[in-house]
Amino acid sequence: MKDIKTLVQNPPRGPVEPVQLGLEDTIRFRCHKDIDCFNQCCMDIDITLTPYDIVRLSRRLSIGTAEFLALHAVPFEMDQHGMPGYKLRTREDAPACQFVTAEGCGVYEDRPAACRYYALGSMGLRRKDSPVVDDIYFLVKEPHCHGHLEDRTLTVGEYRREQGVEIYDEINRDWRDIVLKKRSSGPTVGRPSERSLQLFHLASYDLDGFRRFVLGSSFRETFDLAPEIYAELERDDEALLRFAARFLKQVLFGERSIPLREGVRDQRIERRRRRLAQRAEDGGAPPHDPRYDDAEETD
Ligand code: SF4
Ligand code: SF4
Repeated sequence: MKDIKTLVQNPPRGPVEPVQLGLEDTIRFRCHKDIDCFNQCCMDIDITLTPYDIVRLSRRLSIGTAEFLALHAVPFEMDQHGMPGYKLRTREDAPACQFVTAEGCGVYEDRPAACRYYALGSMGLRRKDSPVVDDIYFLVKEPHCHGHLEDRTLTVGEYRREQGVEIYDEINRDWRDIVLKKRSSGPTVGRPSERSLQLFHLASYDLDGFRRFVLGSSFRETFDLAPEIYAELERDDEALLRFAARFLKQVLFGERSIPLREGVRDQRIERRRRRLAQRAEDGGAPPHDPRYDDAEETD
């Protein structure tokens, strides 16, 4: 089982139907426990995890998000600037998923979006000079998967509803669009600072750590948010994920997506001025020397 982002970059062993599908298009597919290929799709996986996947799986396993990443995920770089990503870890002795059992998926109710979609693939497509990201779908036809031979047709929209993937797409959408925007803007945005990469990692993958960061005194002194918003971010994972995407727009693109407290902007300009002066005094430092990143700054 390979997710579509991987499929697009690395042609799979099995063919991907070269037809873009929309929500109203019809597919022929059915997967069930009695099929002769049961579990085959979980024996050789390459699954990129989204922020919501990580939260659902870590809550399912009753562990924190940092512990989940350490135990069940493998880091990789999503682009030439080192934007961090994670894949689902496989077993030590085989490319099989750690969660597959003889009875099927051991985390079925909380399985990742890529597993829900299979044998469909989905991707966001940002056309050149367009601010809008289109959702497109593909049928993934790998030889081992016999679900394509079953006698059932349904639309892509019906399949997404059946597989419970809509909530995943809804919560991950802003994050995915940020990643796409970062990728498509290339050299015009440039390599993010070390601090921005750390914040991207925190807000995207370690939601428990991001919650501590947001509820900490430094964040509260910087951003002007109502107490009821902090209360919601403290108790509600999904609200915190949506907030994380707003925060990342500020971190990566300098958008004013979260209001700053009065006076904070002037203090920052002054701090930046002092850092630049210090850099010049030191004889000029590399553009992304971490010594010149301000640990408190987020934009
Ligand atoms: S999470 Fe479940 S469905 Fe996805 S690869 Fe693992 S066992 Fe298969
Ligand atoms: S039909 Fe396809 S998706 Fe279902 S168990 Fe078989 S290989 Fe996996």
